[in-house]
Amino acid sequence: MQTHTSAGSLAVVLTAERRAGRRIGFVPTMGALHEGHLTLVRRARADNDVVVVSIFVNPLQFGPTEDFERYPRDLAADARLLAGAGVDHLFTPPVAEMYPEGALATRIEVGRIGEVGEGRYRPGFFSGVATVCVKLFNIVGVDRAYFGQKDAQQLAVIRRLAADLNLTVTIVGCPTLREPDGLAASSRNAYLTPQQRAAAPALAGALRAAQDAVASGEGSVAALRALVSDRLAAEPQLALQYVDAFDASTFAPLERIERPAVLALAAFAGETRLIDNVTLQPATLPASGDRQGIMVTL
Ligand code: AMP
Repeated sequence: MQTHTSAGSLAVVLTAERRAGRRIGFVPTMGALHEGHLTLVRRARADNDVVVVSIFVNPLQFGPTEDFERYPRDLAADARLLAGAGVDHLFTPPVAEMYPEGALATRIEVGRIGEVGEGRYRPGFFSGVATVCVKLFNIVGVDRAYFGQKDAQQLAVIRRLAADLNLTVTIVGCPTLREPDGLAASSRNAYLTPQQRAAAPALAGALRAAQDAVASGEGSVAALRALVSDRLAAEPQLALQYVDAFDASTFAPLERIERPAVLALAAFAGETRLIDNVTLQPATLPASGDRQGIMVTL
């Protein structure tokens, strides 16, 4: 695996790869890598000739009170994991490589999709993510880019961005990797105290209960909100910030589950903000013939 800290150095090797007709798969990350990241890397390895991973803690997507400074960084451990997973090129630009003048004049705005859900609590977050992703896609010259369903809204934003701006990259979504107790793998899990870590699987448990309720016919998002917040109220280590339902592809907020949806939440364990989500499939309505049959019987 070659490590590059400058866009120029990466461009030299990747331009040659592209000229040779080789397909480039790319996994953007912020490092502090775990098994969840590695599932994206393995998928990229299986699908492409060349695999590039970036590690960049992007200041543009952190709010002033968020954890940019203390975000976990362990480049040596990350590089070992990536080399072991067969990555060809690791791109680890310093902040000055990505933002040479400190700030950019140009920014990607993503509109309404970036103002709901996470965007309500993290203003500017999705604009920061979209902007750095476009920069990274262009630096890499990527064919396919891999994103986790763990950050379902981010995946929806990137898909929308790629469609809106006719980006040539194919966006590939990958399922959420969970610990055996259900907790979604996350770099921020490293912040948790043992008590918080023991409580954290309740988030996935509450989402699963909501998923079951929908499968059994519950269609009201208000009822799902109540179900999730009641379950988490029993867990003093966790403070729910929001739980909301969104259209699975547009991320438009929903009040009823009548089409495939995402139920997403954020909760604090002390200072640590955790997010998780599940997909919801509305209970299948009986076919119209069956309903007519029931009416005849009645
Ligand atoms: P991050 O380093 O947190 O920015 O994440 C980099 C990529 O890994 C994003 O596309 C995430 O959605 C994805 N990712 C993070 N955690 C998981 C997980 N538990 N399962 C699958 N993908 C994940």
